[in-house]
Amino acid sequence: MFSTQLVQKLQQAQKVAVLTGAGISAESGVPTFRGEDGLWNKFRPEELANFNAFQKNPKLVWEWYNYRRKLIHEVKPNPGHYALAEMEQMFPHFTLITQNVDNLHRVAGSQIILELHGNIMRNRCVDCNKIYQEVKIDFNQQMPVCRCGGQLRPDVVWFGEMLPEDALLCAFQAAQECDIFFSIGTSAVVQPAASLPIEARERGAYVVEINIEPTAISRYVDESIIGKSGEILPLLVKKVKETGLI
Ligand code: NAD
Ligand code: ZN
Repeated sequence: MFSTQLVQKLQQAQKVAVLTGAGISAESGVPTFRGEDGLWNKFRPEELANFNAFQKNPKLVWEWYNYRRKLIHEVKPNPGHYALAEMEQMFPHFTLITQNVDNLHRVAGSQIILELHGNIMRNRCVDCNKIYQEVKIDFNQQMPVCRCGGQLRPDVVWFGEMLPEDALLCAFQAAQECDIFFSIGTSAVVQPAASLPIEARERGAYVVEINIEPTAISRYVDESIIGKSGEILPLLVKKVKETGLI
């Protein structure tokens, strides 16, 4: 499953960085985009998840997001999310980078999260940029409006939009400085996140992938673990703790 070498390296690691994708939430029941049961089979996200679509038909876009929010609101973190929250406490430096917008890492207890694609449970004003946190979300409200009168949109990164610069910079810095880098449940095709494991490897980190199948980066990593993240991660954490350490 995983090597003794990995366990030993984790016991000595000072800096660990983790990149997660939709796969970490699959066992919670959040559909992945490219999986068999993916959202892309039912919808065409490129038609909905972009600013032009929102300007043209905000009601339709909001309907889609309300559907996705409800779906995400009903699911819970799985043992993979909890294991990562535990890992945050185990290492002197731990950076969690996610492409997910589902908020499940936070619900599981992870405290510092670099959200590269935003968070579906937040809204943002298109005019004044004010952020409305998850508590304010009313699932039934069709077209929420900001206090300034501007339209609110989900605080996620849409097709054609830039990733949040600060989060991206911190993510690359963590990849460059870490001793061990994990790429978990991501198909590793969406840039620039897909470059993070490669960058880490070039800078000398031990790079580990956890996925149910091989991906585009499998042959570049030091260790490719085939299996469900909700099963592998808790076992790995247990093993590292058992064998003494940190
Ligand atoms: P992706 O759908 O491209 O790939 C998911 C990967 O997870 C696949 O490689 C699959 O083999 C793997 N996987 C599935 N079940 C797994 C499991 N139990 N354990 C380990 N791996 C498993 O997802 P991605 O790489 O994150 O694609 C990025 C885009 O999809 C991002 O833009 C992201 O915002 C968006 N997205 C996010 C969510 C979410 O927030 N949960 C859901 C769907 C899509
Ligand atoms: Zn506003």
